[in-house]
Amino acid sequence: MKNIVILGGGYGGLTVIKHLIEGSIPNDTQIILVDRMPFQGLKTEYYALAAGTVSDYDLRVQYPVHHQLIYKYGEVESVNLEEKVILIHGEDPLSYEQLVIGLGCTDRFHGVPGAEEFSSTIQSFKSTRETYLRLNEIKPYGHVHIVGGGLSGVEIAAEIRESRADLNVTILDRGERVLSAFPQRLSAYVGEWFGEHQVELKNHISVSRVEPGAIYNRDEEILTDTVVWTAGIQPVKIVRDLNVQKDPQGRVSLNEYYQIPEYPEVYVVGDCASVPFAPSAQAAEAQGEQIAHVIHAFWKNEEPKTEALKLRGTLGALGKKSGFGLMGKTSMMGRVPRILKSGVLWMSKRHFG
Ligand SMILES: Cc1cc2nc3c(=O)[nH]c(=O)nc-3n(C[C@H](O)[C@H](O)[C@H](O)COP(=O)(O)OP(=O)(O)OC[C@H]3O[C@@H](n4cnc5c(N)ncnc54)[C@H](O)[C@@H]3O)c2cc1C
Repeated sequence: MKNIVILGGGYGGLTVIKHLIEGSIPNDTQIILVDRMPFQGLKTEYYALAAGTVSDYDLRVQYPVHHQLIYKYGEVESVNLEEKVILIHGEDPLSYEQLVIGLGCTDRFHGVPGAEEFSSTIQSFKSTRETYLRLNEIKPYGHVHIVGGGLSGVEIAAEIRESRADLNVTILDRGERVLSAFPQRLSAYVGEWFGEHQVELKNHISVSRVEPGAIYNRDEEILTDTVVWTAGIQPVKIVRDLNVQKDPQGRVSLNEYYQIPEYPEVYVVGDCASVPFAPSAQAAEAQGEQIAHVIHAFWKNEEPKTEALKLRGTLGALGKKSGFGLMGKTSMMGRVPRILKSGVLWMSKRHFG
């Protein structure tokens, strides 16, 4: 039996699977999905799990069922591209004929001492659960500091405010304004929302150290109960360890078929893949669909056709009733983008019917 192994059942890996099983899979081929979890975790909503406004159960999506699809649960440790073998903790090595790497990303701490040890994060289901515990055990009227005022930092700050009215919430950002990648109008709207909801914004901050109970802006000590780190991401270590060409963000450089040029049997999808966009669930899904088309074409001995990836835009939440969005050049603010975001979540939960 030939196999195609998919590492990671997130937005990218599952989209590849969804489109592979919608077409016909050769009778002598099996798809093997390897993940540490027995369900997809809806990462775009981890900020709400951390804040305690949704439950763990709400963010799980069951994997699809197909007679040529099998699951292997475990912690992937490394990929040997030369030998075509994957090492999974405590398991026999797994060989592949074709491989799709979709293991997502993890936090980037920029070498700040203590940041990894003493801050809470929301890049994996496990770390998000731990963050939930820490945030919800903060003493009444305690203080939480969010490092990084990008999409995740803004969403978690707003959600904590909604979850716990007693807490003092501060975003520490190194730039001029939160959401610096978005138009000024959107940042201004979000800034106003934070003003009205008593979330403090501190700009031009350069975090130099994190310690238990304190975070440092250069030499200035800021006392805190919990630090949540949302100040950067990078591909997971397994991908960082691959000896192949990468872009400046550490994502794997790929050919037009999303294959590693020296290893055309290996595709990379999602946050680990070098595409002309910032990492997002939307980009991972768009790319995953194309990878499935490429694989189907090769199965049929046809020349694959790929198209430039097209993204619809970005939506962000400010609690459960307000939000913001950018569709092309159009900025959206208030209730409508929040309703659209809920609609996207509703669809994500129903990927597989
Ligand atoms: C708070 C937050 C809000 C976001 N909001 C948005 C948004 O509004 N819109 C948007 O488009 N994007 C958003 N994103 C980004 C989006 O979540 C990611 O870009 C997307 O999840 C990437 O998909 P992926 O398939 O590459 O990885 P993931 O979806 O992260 O999937 C990776 C999979 O690999 C598994 N895995 C990882 N390492 C191992 C290992 N060693 N062994 C076994 N299994 C492993 C994980 O369990 C997981 O199932 C947000 C992210 C965060 C954190």
